[in-house]
Amino acid sequence: MPVASTTDVLIVGGGPAGLAAAIAFRKKGIDCVVVEARSPVIDKACGEGLLPSALISLARLGVEITARDGHPFRGIRFTDSTHQVKADFPQCSGIGVRRTRLHSRLVEHASEAGADVRWNSRATLGNQNSALIDGHEVKFRWLVGADGQASSVRRWAGLNTFRKESVRYGFRRHYNLSPWDEYVEVYWGSAGQIIVSPVADDCVCVVYVTRNRHCNWHQILDEFPQLQARLQGVAMLSQQRGAVSATRKLHTIARGSIALIGDASGSPDIITGEGLAMAFRHACALADAIESGNLGSYSRSHKCIGRLPHAMGALMLTMDRWPSLEAGAMRTLASNPDLFQELLSFHVGAKCVSELAVGVSDSSAGF
Ligand SMILES: Cc1cc2nc3c(=O)[nH]c(=O)nc-3n(C[C@H](O)[C@H](O)[C@H](O)COP(=O)(O)OP(=O)(O)OC[C@H]3O[C@@H](n4cnc5c(N)ncnc54)[C@H](O)[C@@H]3O)c2cc1C
Repeated sequence: MPVASTTDVLIVGGGPAGLAAAIAFRKKGIDCVVVEARSPVIDKACGEGLLPSALISLARLGVEITARDGHPFRGIRFTDSTHQVKADFPQCSGIGVRRTRLHSRLVEHASEAGADVRWNSRATLGNQNSALIDGHEVKFRWLVGADGQASSVRRWAGLNTFRKESVRYGFRRHYNLSPWDEYVEVYWGSAGQIIVSPVADDCVCVVYVTRNRHCNWHQILDEFPQLQARLQGVAMLSQQRGAVSATRKLHTIARGSIALIGDASGSPDIITGEGLAMAFRHACALADAIESGNLGSYSRSHKCIGRLPHAMGALMLTMDRWPSLEAGAMRTLASNPDLFQELLSFHVGAKCVSELAVGVSDSSAGF
């Protein structure tokens, strides 16, 4: 199929953010071309947990993810070497979904919506409003960088300056095991965390995340003999995949007719589990802004979308950095599960700071 020579929006990157944006634009009747360097379906290292907020944003785009796509989980459980505590999501369950399944659902919806997706293609950006795609010139009115952590659109547009940046490393595996818990489990060890998400009736996704890129799987797992025993000798269903988990805040995410979304526009640490939910919310907010011809409103929405995940990410990275603080926090939360419930409700946006403050002042004596 020949590439259209003009389009309203050129989206660079056909991962979750780029495809969600394409769906959001097409729902508003806005033409778009998506350029993706790889071919579908695209796999990536991910904890594969979709929080309720991600499911709500996807539903807003008409993408209904159900238990048939993966495996539901009702909340989060934190475990360290001596304590554990769990809490339920107040609104609805989350769903663990294999990354390839999520991508194929998004591809299907983008295609049904009429998005022109160019797989195995790269855009060479020329002047402000044109690009070469597979040797053909395409003129566009708006350019969207949905090209992930190492965004070339971000660099090209001169938006590559950060207010905050730190890096950890995440590694993902799939094990052929029936999920044993109704919660996503987060194990807090001295070298990092292990996150276990149910993703199918016969599969769990296990991610470990650490500051030390030389730290290996066994060093972290040794601290959790029970989990180690569960995984011992079980067949792996995928090759281990790694990716950088960057905490990044940009000075500017939109300029002129260019906007960044998803990881290209900054990200909280993966321990928040919020990356995908944020990307889908960016997509909806950007489509609203472009429809009204005003990227200023997108910049404001973007700030608002990132505020809570970044705050919670900072809190959890502080626990990661200071083992004594982590141990104290776990002790307090384990003896006061209502506080953990309050924090989770806050984290998923079901409670605001003023409501939370009551719970914290009542119960923070042990911190
Ligand atoms: C280990 C790990 C675990 C995680 N766990 C979770 C979790 O449990 N829940 C959650 O919500 N989030 C999680 N995240 C975060 C989540 O994976 C990201 O937020 C999400 O992938 C962002 O989507 P994106 O489309 O912005 O970027 P990406 O998924 O990186 O997609 C970018 C796309 O752009 C393409 N591209 C790049 N450059 C070009 C170019 N020049 N031309 C054309 N195409 C290009 C790439 O091929 C890629 O397909 C995790 C992240 C990591 C690293």
